[in-house]
Amino acid sequence: MAAGAVPEEVLLNSDLIQELKEVARDAALLHGVLMRTKESPNSSEVVSYAPFTLFPTPLPRPLFQQAVQLQILFNRLVDKISQDLSFLEEALASTIKVDDFTAQLFNIHRTVQQEGHSQSTVLGLIRSDYMLDLGPDGKTTLKQIEFNTIAASFGGLSSRTPDVHRHILKVAGLLEHQKRVMDNNPAAEFASALAKAWELYGSGRAVVMFLVEDVQRNIFDHRCVENELWKRNVPVIRKTFDDVFKTGLLDQEKKLFVLVPCAVLCGSFLCCVFLQNWEVRLMMERSQAVKCPNIQTHLAGVKKVQQVLAQPGVLEKFFPNEPEAVAQIRATFAGLYALDVGEQGDRTVAMALANPEKFVLKPQREGGGNNIYGEDICRVLQGLKGNSERAAYILMDKIHPQPVENYLLCCNSAVKLTTCVSELGIFGTYIRQGTKMVWNQCAGHLLRTKSAEHDDGGIAAGVAVLDNPCLV
Ligand code: ADP
Ligand code: MG
Ligand code: MG
Repeated sequence: MAAGAVPEEVLLNSDLIQELKEVARDAALLHGVLMRTKESPNSSEVVSYAPFTLFPTPLPRPLFQQAVQLQILFNRLVDKISQDLSFLEEALASTIKVDDFTAQLFNIHRTVQQEGHSQSTVLGLIRSDYMLDLGPDGKTTLKQIEFNTIAASFGGLSSRTPDVHRHILKVAGLLEHQKRVMDNNPAAEFASALAKAWELYGSGRAVVMFLVEDVQRNIFDHRCVENELWKRNVPVIRKTFDDVFKTGLLDQEKKLFVLVPCAVLCGSFLCCVFLQNWEVRLMMERSQAVKCPNIQTHLAGVKKVQQVLAQPGVLEKFFPNEPEAVAQIRATFAGLYALDVGEQGDRTVAMALANPEKFVLKPQREGGGNNIYGEDICRVLQGLKGNSERAAYILMDKIHPQPVENYLLCCNSAVKLTTCVSELGIFGTYIRQGTKMVWNQCAGHLLRTKSAEHDDGGIAAGVAVLDNPCLV
C-alpha cells in the first residue's frame, strides 16, 4: 500500500465508516465548511455542509512543492500577459470573431484602452490548477489544467477543511496521517492582498466591493474572505450586477459609487450574460477602483491564451532573460492545440477525430461542465468542420491521474466507496502599481476530488468535492 493511503482495514470497515461519516459531517458544520442549499440558495436560514471527501488524498510532496514554487512565476506571467496588448490582440483575434462572450470582454478592453485607464494599480487573485499525470512509463508529472484569473473560488472554505480532515483521521486512529495534512489559509492571504490594494487606493472612506452572482449558494466561501477583511478593519460590501446597475455611478474623477465609494472591486462572478451586466462591467472598468481582475487580466485567463502560451517561443518572449523560469513553466504544460482556420487547425481536427479519447475540447468558458469529451468531440468538430467557428474552442491532451479510493460526502446522496481523481489548485496574489510589482505571493492551495467516472469537474458544477492533500 502506498504511504499516506488509508489502510484497507479502515477503508472497508463499514461500521467505522458509518461512524466517521457522522463525525465528518458534524466537524464540517462546526468548522464552517458550509454551503447554502440548492432549494434556497439565497437564504442562510437552513444551510448544509459543502461537499467534501471523507479522507484526504495522498499527494507526493515534491510535486506539491513544485506547484507551490511555480506560483510566483505564474503570477508574473499572468500579469505580463495582461500588459501585452498586442499579444492579447493577436492571440484572441480568431476567437473573438466567433465567440461572443470573449468578443464582449475584448470590446470593453478596447474602449477603456482608448479612453485611458484611470487606475494604475492592479490586483490579481488567481488560481493555477493541476492534475498529476501518470505517464505510460509509470512516472507521475505535474500538468497544468488551466489557470483562473476570475472566479478563483474556494479559497475561503479550503481554509477550514484541514481541521475537519485532521479530526476525522484522529477518530479513525490514523495519527501519522493527520500530521501530513497541512495548514492552509487562502482566506487570510486573499484578505491581506485585498487590504493592501485598499490601502494603496488611499481613501479611508472607501470600501471593498464583492461583485456577486444572483444565486449565492457559495456565500460562506466569500464570507471567510470578507470576515478576514473586517478583522483588518477594511469595510466590505456585497453587490450584484443588478445592484450596481441600479445604484452605481461614476463621478467626474471616475470614482465609483455604489451608494458608498468603492476602492477595490473583487469579482466572484462567472459570467455576465445580460446586456445590462456588460454595461455594468464597462462602468466598473472605467472607474478608478482597483479591479480584481481588470479586463486585461480577465482576458489573460481565457483558454485560448493558455493554448497560445504553449506554442514554441511564446514563454521566451515573456521571460527573455530567464530560461530557468521558461523551463519550469513549460514542464507543466500538456499538449495544447489551436483550431483556427488553416492547415494547423485541420491537423488538429484530424488528430482529434482519429483518437478522441485522448483529448479534451474546451470552449472559452469557466465554472466546469462546459468541456467536450470522447465521441462528442467528433460530433462537435464534424459539425464545425472547415468552419471558422471551431476557433471558439481549443484542444488539449487528456491528463490521466492515478485513481484513489475514497468516500464523497455530498448532501442528500448515498455515500459509497468511490474511485476518485483529484485536481490541485494553487492560489496566488499579486499587486502591481504602474510598472512595479509590489506584492507577489503564493496564497495556499485547494484540492478538489471527483469520481473518476466524471470527465468534467468543478464544485459549483456539483461534480467535484473539497479535499486536502496528505503529503507523502
Ligand atoms: P473550467 O474553467 O470550466 O473549470 P477546466 O479547464 O478546469 O475548465 O475544465 C473543467 C474540468 O475538466 C477540470 O476540473 C477537470 O476535471 C477536467 N479537465 C479539464 N482539462 C482536462 C484535461 N486536459 N485532462 C483531464 N481532465 C481535464
Ligand atoms: Mg476555469
Ligand atoms: Mg477549472
